[in-house]
Amino acid sequence: MKIVQSIGEIRGVVKKLQLQNKKVAFVPTMGALHNGHLSLIRRAKKHADHIVVSIYVNPEQFGPNEDFGSYPRTIERDLEFCRQEGVGTVFTPNDEIMYGSGEKFFRIEIDVLNKHLDGGSRPGYFQGIALVVNKLFNIVQPDIAVFGQKDYQQFQIIQQMVNEFNHDLELVMAPIERAEDGLALSSRNAYLSDEERALAPLLFKKMRECVEEIQAGLMEPQSLFKTKQDELEAKGFKNDYFNTFSMNRMEPVAKLSKGERYVLATAVYLGKTRLIDNIIFEC
Ligand code: AMP
Repeated sequence: MKIVQSIGEIRGVVKKLQLQNKKVAFVPTMGALHNGHLSLIRRAKKHADHIVVSIYVNPEQFGPNEDFGSYPRTIERDLEFCRQEGVGTVFTPNDEIMYGSGEKFFRIEIDVLNKHLDGGSRPGYFQGIALVVNKLFNIVQPDIAVFGQKDYQQFQIIQQMVNEFNHDLELVMAPIERAEDGLALSSRNAYLSDEERALAPLLFKKMRECVEEIQAGLMEPQSLFKTKQDELEAKGFKNDYFNTFSMNRMEPVAKLSKGERYVLATAVYLGKTRLIDNIIFEC
């Protein structure tokens, strides 16, 4: 497994492989790898001959009061995981390589897709992600890139960005990897105290209960969502959002239609830890 830091090196590796007609799949991460990331790597292997994983904690996607400083950084362990998974190349740029030290003249604006969910709650978050992913796609130029459904809104934004900016690659979405008790795996789960970790799976349980009721015929689930949010608050969760959204435009949908697909998406805080989760379902 190669570990490369510079843009020239990663471009060289990928171009050489593509000249040999090898397909290259790219899995961008912020490190602190867990089974969710590994499932993306395994998915990527089904589509390509060589896997590039990037590990870079992108400062542009953290707000001023967010956890950039304390975000878990476990590079040696991450590299070992990558080795075990048969990753071909790990790209580990630093801030200087990604952003230089000079003034920036361009920013990415995102329209309707960024109004709700995390786009509504975390100003600048998806602009920061779109910026870094845009740069990473231009740097690595893979044939395929794999992202997780865990960040469904992110996937939609990146898919739209690929379409509108004509990135020459195919996006693949991998399903959410969960712990046995249902909690969606996340690097941020490391922040949870034992008590919070024991409580956390309740979120997915409440979401599943909602989907069951909807699929049993409840087409206007707003009051059900309110009840579930109250139940979560009573246990110590702090709610951000809990709602059904359209699959492509990421807009809230209060009245659901039979036969349509939606995403039930939520964000909560447990103590200082922000948890997000979603379920894609058909009515
Ligand atoms: P991150 O390192 O958190 O930026 O995540 C890197 C990639 O891993 C993103 O495409 C995420 O959607 C994906 N990912 C994170 N957690 C999970 C999970 N539990 N299951 C599947 N994919 C995940």
